[in-house]
Amino acid sequence: SITYRNRLIIGKIGIMGGTFDPIHYGHLATAEAVRVKYKLNKVIFMPSGNPPHKRDRDIIDKLHRYNMTILATMSNKYFEVSSLEIKRKGRTYTIDTLKKLKNTYKNSELFFITGADAFCDIETWKDVEENFNLATFIGATRPGVELSKVRNKIEYLKSKYNTKILEIHVPSLDISSTDLRERIKMNKSIKYLLPECVEKYIYKYNLYR
Ligand code: ATP
Ligand code: MG
Repeated sequence: SITYRNRLIIGKIGIMGGTFDPIHYGHLATAEAVRVKYKLNKVIFMPSGNPPHKRDRDIIDKLHRYNMTILATMSNKYFEVSSLEIKRKGRTYTIDTLKKLKNTYKNSELFFITGADAFCDIETWKDVEENFNLATFIGATRPGVELSKVRNKIEYLKSKYNTKILEIHVPSLDISSTDLRERIKMNKSIKYLLPECVEKYIYKYNLYR
């Protein structure tokens, strides 16, 4: 354990937020890279409930997204899945989740993991500044967003909010849930883009057709 800002830190906990509709190797590889690089004790996957930025399209039943996240993280003893957001009524905001987690893990440092696209529009999130006070945000690279854009954003946010923000370079996996849903609809293969157990789950429940 170490002392940081006069608090005793007995753990470092990562939070991987997402819709996970469906979860894929891009999410998993990103979370694992962060866990290893920043020596986190665990990473909590947090399937979103009713995300305000995805209002416009039908996201499949929360329970299916939660189940697929459980299946996908099964083989990693450092990965956990939380049902906190899917259980919450109304819109779900990261700020409420962070407050809740901070209360549960009083002596831990929280790290919130975001891919480059999510990271770059973080200022549109509710209570940005307070989010930065509750967790250390990590911007991960993602195909489709220039590394320089992520770096500029990090520098800008660091100075504007006087906060600590970290960067991570993740092996490029050009996979998105949008593309996976499209493939399933078109009867195209989704093999090797997501864990096989998730693929089986999708076909079993005939999702995204
Ligand atoms: P959709 O296409 O439906 O938006 P998505 O693939 O972007 O799905 P999300 O659930 O929206 O998945 O993303 C959750 C988090 O994971 C976000 O922070 C996002 O940037 C990150 N992420 C998703 N895919 C990748 C990837 N291939 N590489 C790095 N980060 C990723
Ligand atoms: Mg997305």
